[in-house]
Amino acid sequence: MIIKLSTQDAEPRQALVAALEEAGLEVRQLQFPFGDFLAGLGTSGPALKKIQAMAGVAWARPAGSKPILAARELNPGGSRVRLGRMEIGGETLALVAGPCSVEDREQIFTTARFVAAFGATALRGGAYKPRSSPYAFQGLGQAGVELLKEAGDAAGLPVVTEVMEAGDVEAMAPFVDCFQIGARNMSNSPLLKAVGRCGKPVLLKRGPSATLAEFVLAAEYIMLEGNAQVILCERGIRTFETATRNTLDLNAIPVLKGMTHLPVVVDPSHGTGLRHAVSPMARAAVAAGADGIVVEVHPDPASALSDGEQSLHLPEFRRLAEELKPVAEAVGRRLDLPETLPFAPNQIPLIRRAMGWGGSR
Ligand code: PEP
Ligand code: MN
Repeated sequence: MIIKLSTQDAEPRQALVAALEEAGLEVRQLQFPFGDFLAGLGTSGPALKKIQAMAGVAWARPAGSKPILAARELNPGGSRVRLGRMEIGGETLALVAGPCSVEDREQIFTTARFVAAFGATALRGGAYKPRSSPYAFQGLGQAGVELLKEAGDAAGLPVVTEVMEAGDVEAMAPFVDCFQIGARNMSNSPLLKAVGRCGKPVLLKRGPSATLAEFVLAAEYIMLEGNAQVILCERGIRTFETATRNTLDLNAIPVLKGMTHLPVVVDPSHGTGLRHAVSPMARAAVAAGADGIVVEVHPDPASALSDGEQSLHLPEFRRLAEELKPVAEAVGRRLDLPETLPFAPNQIPLIRRAMGWGGSR
């Protein structure tokens, strides 16, 4: 069961913890910006009625198959998740940009500098890659995580990267501002619990065949560990359509907003798999109320080690950002884009190459 506390006093809280333990339930004390809660995990049986009548209880609900902590009604105004200088879920749109995979120092530093100068709010890049083929590039692992952080620091951007194993969370955590749970791992509950315990923001991607109800329940796993900093990411689902890599389910935006108070972002790169479809679908997502966009960007997509065909060239990212701005404003959101490019002259050769003016890297 989940109990919402009506007081911060220690005495009723202790009595409630004791009552939950006496009923054989595993107790979690959860403090969120939208309230203090106690979770009693296990079969509560007759204990619920007794607890509902105890002091300090605003309400007590039996656990069932529906999310409780992630449910919209717990924070009807919507939750915000801080990432670097911005809060995802607020008025300003988040732009998370970067390569599918961290490949080498030059690739990630070039991308980081450019996307920062072009208005990104966070740098993404995978180091542990869940590839469909075991023969495909699997990522640089921990070295890639550390390189991503170095590049993010150099560009002044927080970093988002995927974790695939619960056992990696601890080693990665000092270098990660936001853990990504990939689509293939959305229902990996030990991994969800591990990122929940670690307390850092989590970008939770929707499984390719997960219903929205299952998606929100995956977020509930993270929240039950005391971590409410969860951002939901729609990234396309598997349908009968083969013209696109996935079918980007924009229905998910308004429907999730009704189901949960968590911020919702959209990844049109994996949602379409097609570079030319990324910007139009990003605009559609913002028009439909997304709190941000996650997009793959590469200095030389033709030579990318993963997902090159859906990755934007660096100048295309700037164009995407410029095209998103009026859409954001039309739906009452903001997108603050830097107007000048603050590059030192000694960086120009790098810029030329990245812009495709000086050949490939
Ligand atoms: C990715 O972000 O590069 C990725 C592998 O995404 P997904 O888990 O959505 O396929
Ligand atoms: Mn990718």
